[in-house]
Amino acid sequence: MLNLRLLIAALLLSVSVVPAQEQHDKIFFENSLMGNTYYYSKAGYENGSWIKNITGKLPVSDQIFFTPGNSLELQYLSTEHGNWSASIIYHELRGKDSFKTADQLSFWIYLNGPTGKETLPAVSLTFYGGKESESVNLADYLSSINSTTWTRVRIPLDALIKGPELKISTVESVTFSQGNSSKQEGHLFIDQIEFTPAVAIAVVVDKTPELLSAKGYEQHVDLSWKKENNSMIKYIKVYRSLNGEDFTPVGIQLPQIAGFTDFTGPQSSKIKYKLTYLDQNYRETDFSTVLTAFVRGMTDEELLDMIQQSHFRYYWDGCEPNSGLALENIPGRTTMIATGASGFGIMAILAASKRNFITRDQAVERFVRITNFLLKADRYHGVFPHFMDGTTGKTVAFFGEHDNGGDLVETSFLMQGLLTARQYFNGKDANETKIRNAITRLWNEVEWDWYRRTKDSDFLFWHWSPDQAWVINHKLIGWNETMITYFLAIASQTHGVPGSMYYSGWASQSAEAAIYRANWGQTTDGAAYTNGNVYQGIQLPVGVSNGGPLFFVHYSFLGLNPKAFTDKYVNYFDNNKRIAEINLRYCIENPMKHKGYGDDFWGLTASDGVSDYTADEPNVKGDKGKLTATGALASFPYTPEASMKALKNYYRNYGKQLYGYYGFRDAIDLDKNWCSPIYMGLNQAPITVMIENYRSNLLWDLFMADPEVQGALNKISAAR
Ligand code: CA
Repeated sequence: MLNLRLLIAALLLSVSVVPAQEQHDKIFFENSLMGNTYYYSKAGYENGSWIKNITGKLPVSDQIFFTPGNSLELQYLSTEHGNWSASIIYHELRGKDSFKTADQLSFWIYLNGPTGKETLPAVSLTFYGGKESESVNLADYLSSINSTTWTRVRIPLDALIKGPELKISTVESVTFSQGNSSKQEGHLFIDQIEFTPAVAIAVVVDKTPELLSAKGYEQHVDLSWKKENNSMIKYIKVYRSLNGEDFTPVGIQLPQIAGFTDFTGPQSSKIKYKLTYLDQNYRETDFSTVLTAFVRGMTDEELLDMIQQSHFRYYWDGCEPNSGLALENIPGRTTMIATGASGFGIMAILAASKRNFITRDQAVERFVRITNFLLKADRYHGVFPHFMDGTTGKTVAFFGEHDNGGDLVETSFLMQGLLTARQYFNGKDANETKIRNAITRLWNEVEWDWYRRTKDSDFLFWHWSPDQAWVINHKLIGWNETMITYFLAIASQTHGVPGSMYYSGWASQSAEAAIYRANWGQTTDGAAYTNGNVYQGIQLPVGVSNGGPLFFVHYSFLGLNPKAFTDKYVNYFDNNKRIAEINLRYCIENPMKHKGYGDDFWGLTASDGVSDYTADEPNVKGDKGKLTATGALASFPYTPEASMKALKNYYRNYGKQLYGYYGFRDAIDLDKNWCSPIYMGLNQAPITVMIENYRSNLLWDLFMADPEVQGALNKISAAR
């Protein structure tokens, strides 16, 4: 026993040493978020052979699976001169770009009925660029043929790759094909396709999970447990019983996430839950104790509470633990924090404290942690980088070698949150005083004027770094999300810029600014900052194109109350409302005929896509068919009725795919039958914060109460 314990300790130690870059499992298939078809698959056939496919994709089975809730179905006919193939393509998840070493391809198969060895397919890998590996017969790696049970298949990578060592990162897809089989029908299910180490880990997980709570809402139950850092545990497996006796597995969760959302739909009876751990070899522990939950009807106010709380969770128990700040996306890198998303998250935490999702003391403890971290983290003339390592505070150049210094826009999003917090923590005790003082120091040390580059520049610049200097050379020119950057630069009393820069920079009338706007808007509409055209029957005073993605009316206005801000052109509540309404009316009109769009399914903005993060807009060039819940929900103050309609539709009708432990997943595209697997740090908090502003004005009131913020309003007003 002693040796076993030592082995556990050694293994845990080897994992806990922070590697140069975090390494991830390369998993080709675990579960499809969408039913019916798996987006990242491709199936085809020729010359008399056949494979069952739906629009060229593999079917998904939610009846037969190894890891709940689904697997991929392979039903095929092989013929002498024919061929069929099915490829499962790796979905490159944002930030998961460094992989653990592995020496085998592992998956689980389930043979449907009597299936002879000779019917089984060949297996091969395809590399980025199109090169293919050797092809091997699956049957050669099955010790026995068992129908109607799940069997694990492990194919050593050196059977697939001859010669140089295989780089896990270079493999694009796993392909099953006809291989040697001829004139045979086959029917099987495949699940949990991944690269794994071949060495069987002898350690058995010798504890059972503890289910801490099971709370029912209108359509789902939230389960919670303590985060588990034991690297031997691969998944937490969730079981549900609707009749109190028979439990069926309904899902798996990563152990780093402290809960699971089970979307049940309306249920009249009580629902019971229990958990197990699956270890790295899929051995299952004993069950946890059982907890019971009730789903129930909810009022609109209760629905708002629920949505605010789940999206807040991303920044609370989903945070990077050392810094207390926000990750870029979950799942994703677990140590890389994002500066702007953290600023948004800070405001979501304040809303959560106000609504008693957490106590004020808990919020205070968190902000002490956050400010202690920020005071020691990398800054460049007081400006934070876009991304930092949450364990060290060092810059992470996630967007490339040029982006290794200060990011003024991200810093302004962070400062918007911190100034709001400085007002919220108004207590006389030592901790609240300490938080205020730390924020004042961080705020006073931001050298906004340095990012002007020259003393007489009309513009602020987005980036600067010690070795790259101004090489990115991105001038900040509105209309977009950077209004808050100019606003705070003007507000600063230590390193401020003149109020006139609001008009000379942000709202610049120069030819250069017009070209900048026309380039990204792909139109001259709004190239002069003001616009004046009518879109979907709504005149737009300010905005490029027909207003752009909705995050433009969210990010700068989480704290800056648009009702209180009128420049020489427009009041920004009025303008933002028009932008949101154009977006809504465009989605109702739906000129591109995308599935689902309507008055309850709208909100084009920036979000994760099938292969890239894109900023979507309400026009034919900018509308890809992908919608993001935050588009509609963070617009609550502008479009309360349409936002509530969207909330109910997104939750009730798409919640099974979209709604999880941290709120809505980032995006959904019904044309492609695709749902993003990630939650985004930039997109969760604006929902919580803007719903709070709609309900109580909380964050607006706090931010606007800052005397320096009031000073900025006066300076901009004087510069008219
Ligand atoms: Ca599965």
